[in-house]
Amino acid sequence: MGSLNDAMPLVIPVFIPHEGCPHACVFCNQHRISGRAGSSPVSPGEVGKIIALWLNRAGKKRTGPAQVAFYGGSFTGLPVARQEELLGAVAPFMAEGQVQAIRISTRPDYVDPVAIDRLRRHGVAIVELGVQSLDPEVLMASNRGHSAGQAIRAICLLRAANLQVGVQLMVGLPGESFLGQRRTVRQVAALCPDFVRIYPVLVLKESGLAALHAQGRYRPPTLEQAVARTAWMKNYLAGRGIRVVRMGLQPCPELEEALLAGPYHPAFGELVLARLMLHRTRRALRGVPAGEKVRLSIAARDRSIFQGIRSANSKRLRQMGLLERFELVTDPLQPRATLRIIALPGRFAQASERMGALAGNCYLPLAENPRSRKGHVR
Ligand code: SF4
Repeated sequence: MGSLNDAMPLVIPVFIPHEGCPHACVFCNQHRISGRAGSSPVSPGEVGKIIALWLNRAGKKRTGPAQVAFYGGSFTGLPVARQEELLGAVAPFMAEGQVQAIRISTRPDYVDPVAIDRLRRHGVAIVELGVQSLDPEVLMASNRGHSAGQAIRAICLLRAANLQVGVQLMVGLPGESFLGQRRTVRQVAALCPDFVRIYPVLVLKESGLAALHAQGRYRPPTLEQAVARTAWMKNYLAGRGIRVVRMGLQPCPELEEALLAGPYHPAFGELVLARLMLHRTRRALRGVPAGEKVRLSIAARDRSIFQGIRSANSKRLRQMGLLERFELVTDPLQPRATLRIIALPGRFAQASERMGALAGNCYLPLAENPRSRKGHVR
């Protein structure tokens, strides 16, 4: 399965909104956010057309493998015949070597050895689980309809079957404190999922939260709180070598039209990365003596997260008197989401002595990763 990670895969999304799910989680409004509001379930023929369209569009530019991703529903909760017809629609593309793997998303309580065996037989390699929280009270308040134990068991079963496991977590669920959130993240990290997605809770029209919010019984986190919590989560998970592949929902007109309240921002992930970059820059400059100046190097494409949205980071650094302590350069060869500190000529010895390991040719990741302290960090 290692080869799936070697190059950026082409992920072909097929939405199966709310299919297979008799639940009504308080935050859920799948019909709207998947963009298939009011439409009939996707047919096997449509699945084939979607795949062919994406493969044609990618054409020869594609270097990585292709994966078909069934998103939006609880795949293993579908009737077995429906699961097989959807998976069967991908089979010809897999037989011809045009598609290398299938990924699905589902609920923890719909994962058992029989379901896993079916997925494996049809080429499913990656399973994303909507875990959201491991706090029993939060799961109850969110009307999830499954327990924390079921989520833990599902992750263990999938890992034991050699499937890649993605865990979806939410920020701002009813009844969840930051302390409880951190507890969940620590527990999840201990289960070693392959990757995590983090979504801030939004209050959407026609969801259970909309009613609670209208009655004053639910207050969503502010954007500032959600960014700070997500930054902590990203940092903690990266420190344990766990990739966070998405932060924030994909912006789309249906989502924005359905949005009533909550920490929505179309570039939520960028806000989090900018926050981490600010933390990293502050920490790096802490060791630079007053009157000294260093050079900070970033990847060329990280200029916007260094400055922050509407230059928020630059303003903050100015307020703290740190803007004068460095000059910024970009390096086309530098890995993204890293910061490199270079002491300026004539001051190198003094500065690097005080800064210890921070000065020199070390790419510092925005999020701490003790396994990757030296050299290039991906
Ligand atoms: S389990 Fe998923 S699809 Fe079902 S109601 Fe909850 S969030 Fe929506």
